Amino acid sequence: MKPSRREFLWTMGAAGTSVALWRTHDAVWGVPEPVVRGFKPGIQQTLSSTCLICPARCGIRGRMMDGDLVSISGNPLHPMSRGGLCPRGVAGVQLLYHPDRLTSPLIREGARGEGSWREASTEEALELIVQRLQGLRTAGRPETVALTAGYCAGSMQDVWRQFLAAYGSPNYIADDYDDRTDTVMELMHGIPRRPGFDLDRADLVLSFGAPLFESWWSPLQAFVAFANPDAEDGERPRFIQVDTRFSRTAARAQEWVGIRPGTHAVLALGIAYVMIRDELYNAKFVADHVSGFEDFVDAQGRQWEGYRSLVMRNYRTEEVSVRTGVSVEKITSLARLLAHSDRPVTVLGSDVTHTPNGLLAGLAVHSLNVLTGSLNRPGGVLFGKDPPLEPLASPVMDAIATTGLAHTPTGVTRPPFGTATEALSFAEGVVAANETPIEALILYYSNPLASSARPEVWKEALEKIPFVVSFSPFMDQTARFADVILPDLLPFERWQDAPAPASYPYAVWGLSQPLVEPPATVMHTGDAVLAIAQALGGTVAESLPHDSFKSVLEARARGLFAAGRGLGFGDDFERRNYRQMEERGWWLPAHAEFKPFWQELVERGGWTDLFYDDTDPGGLAGTASGRVDLMPSRLFDLLIAEGGRRALYVDVAGSAEGDTEELSLRLLPYKLSTLASGTLALERWLAEVPGLFPHVVWLPWVEVHPETAKRLGLDEGNMVWVISQQRRYRAQVKIFPGTAPQNVCAPYGLPHPDGELANPLQLLNDTADPLTGLRSWSSTFIRLERI
Ligand code: SF4
Repeated sequence: MKPSRREFLWTMGAAGTSVALWRTHDAVWGVPEPVVRGFKPGIQQTLSSTCLICPARCGIRGRMMDGDLVSISGNPLHPMSRGGLCPRGVAGVQLLYHPDRLTSPLIREGARGEGSWREASTEEALELIVQRLQGLRTAGRPETVALTAGYCAGSMQDVWRQFLAAYGSPNYIADDYDDRTDTVMELMHGIPRRPGFDLDRADLVLSFGAPLFESWWSPLQAFVAFANPDAEDGERPRFIQVDTRFSRTAARAQEWVGIRPGTHAVLALGIAYVMIRDELYNAKFVADHVSGFEDFVDAQGRQWEGYRSLVMRNYRTEEVSVRTGVSVEKITSLARLLAHSDRPVTVLGSDVTHTPNGLLAGLAVHSLNVLTGSLNRPGGVLFGKDPPLEPLASPVMDAIATTGLAHTPTGVTRPPFGTATEALSFAEGVVAANETPIEALILYYSNPLASSARPEVWKEALEKIPFVVSFSPFMDQTARFADVILPDLLPFERWQDAPAPASYPYAVWGLSQPLVEPPATVMHTGDAVLAIAQALGGTVAESLPHDSFKSVLEARARGLFAAGRGLGFGDDFERRNYRQMEERGWWLPAHAEFKPFWQELVERGGWTDLFYDDTDPGGLAGTASGRVDLMPSRLFDLLIAEGGRRALYVDVAGSAEGDTEELSLRLLPYKLSTLASGTLALERWLAEVPGLFPHVVWLPWVEVHPETAKRLGLDEGNMVWVISQQRRYRAQVKIFPGTAPQNVCAPYGLPHPDGELANPLQLLNDTADPLTGLRSWSSTFIRLERI
């Protein structure tokens, strides 16, 4: 008779025992009963989920052996990442087993930042937080609570916002990556949304400083588009990268156009000049859909030059060539290439908007999409729609919440197109106040002491705030300053939803499900917020009545079920089939009931709708005139009111402020694809991932042109101080001809072996775009001093 599984295990256990006795003679050894009961050897399982490590939110498949995650691969059903995964995603397994992850709540015992903690139960930590929040609310001061949140799109952000609204705090402080491309789109299109780029269907991609294959919104979107698995003829889009350094992205392009820092927009308008001069632009599109191209008369009867006149007067090719360092022939050929491509698209990168005239530069670069008519059409710029999720119910407001929300968020005065609540402005606001306006600060995936350009301001702010709670799963630099740490579950342990980033123009709702059993002593932050709301009671509890964060996700997915469009992630055939059906006005539900629909989302990894209606004029412009506005009146009027110091399509270049004889090298910080902004500095092995510089590992480095190195007497591998007027840090010299002689390029996020995080952003001076407040990444000059 075949033994049962349990009998088999027992037999093996008995055999093991006898072997142990034979070897040790006098030892008595046996497998404890609970271990035997829980052990299922050799059981393999594969689950779909989503990588939560960066905003790209790629689809993944986790392979588990006996309940342990052993590897991660890409989910081929995810419409954007289609089975791809970057090194950071692969590193996720190591993150899960990182020895430094916090496995229980911690309560501070010694002085702030001293590092003296005691472990606590989740209940004790929650109680401490609730007591503090309850006290402030009862005292009628809910506005003295603030949340700084790193990147958290989707329901986690919605739950936090709901919590703050019902509690009565106006202080949702975004501490995430900002490029203000949404402002450019709002001004020109009346659509306040980051642009989506239909890279899959473009035949020419002209990128102005966008690190498409590195730290862009979704490097996997770029990888998939340029691999082009859907193209029947196997064609890949032609890709040209305009960049200040020979980056990894530039290395992957068919052509790299090296350019002087801060002159991207000058080149764009030089290209526009050729297109207008040679009548190469899409005249019909401009005539039908665009305003501000020709000269115009305003409401007061004043005559103004339009885009055409400004470009023709200011951007003659020879002058543009001198300013940008790009040859006249190249400028002309780029204009012709754009004009003669069927589906060209120009990608506006963050290097453009992080300049002293970043907003005006952004408009100038995007104007090329207007001239080619690459808007709201296949292969162009598309403004995608959010997944039709069931919204959370409106927060229930009592008098305390209403009064609290009427307060202005804490922060210093912001520029006209700045975000309402920005992390450094918030810290400056706390520091500037005589008495602290903030009594309790909550940190959620926010580590400003490491990531901010001005950590000293943040340190001062933190010292003024009496109570700080961190939800960080690791003891990061800012968590060290907290009073309570209630660590979140790690990405592969928790439920979360994951919409694709705006750069992907189609609606995607990825679902992250736990791949492994989380530690019993650690709580999902979503569950913690719900528990805190319940403990606070009253209208706060009424506003968040869900019993778990997973139930929030299920409730929201009912909106997808009811929408009558889209499908659970499917293979290539299913995707095409649904897209074609929806184009013809058809749609067939795959499930009659919600339960199997939800089950399918869990099994396949999420929901998507790949239909984009390019006949909808609302996808092109939401302006009052219904036209794309090259001279947006809100900005135009503001510049006039300023006294005409700056003008649209005139003042678009970055200046060279701060240059001195001593500090003569321009610093150009950039993000590494493997380490992003330093959030993965924990994963030291990522510094070994081969790239353009496979021999520079472990230490932060700076790229120096061979001539510059020779002039300064520096050799490959020398350690130097990188010194600006603000501060200095140590780095290793990498001699690299892809850096211009007058520049020094510096990746950020690399840790020193002593744990210090090298952050070249902290060397930057205060030069910023006065319209947006975005700090310039290319206006700081440094010197190198050999150590
Ligand atoms: S690109 Fe981002 S989301 Fe995608 S695998 Fe890499 S880290 Fe994960």
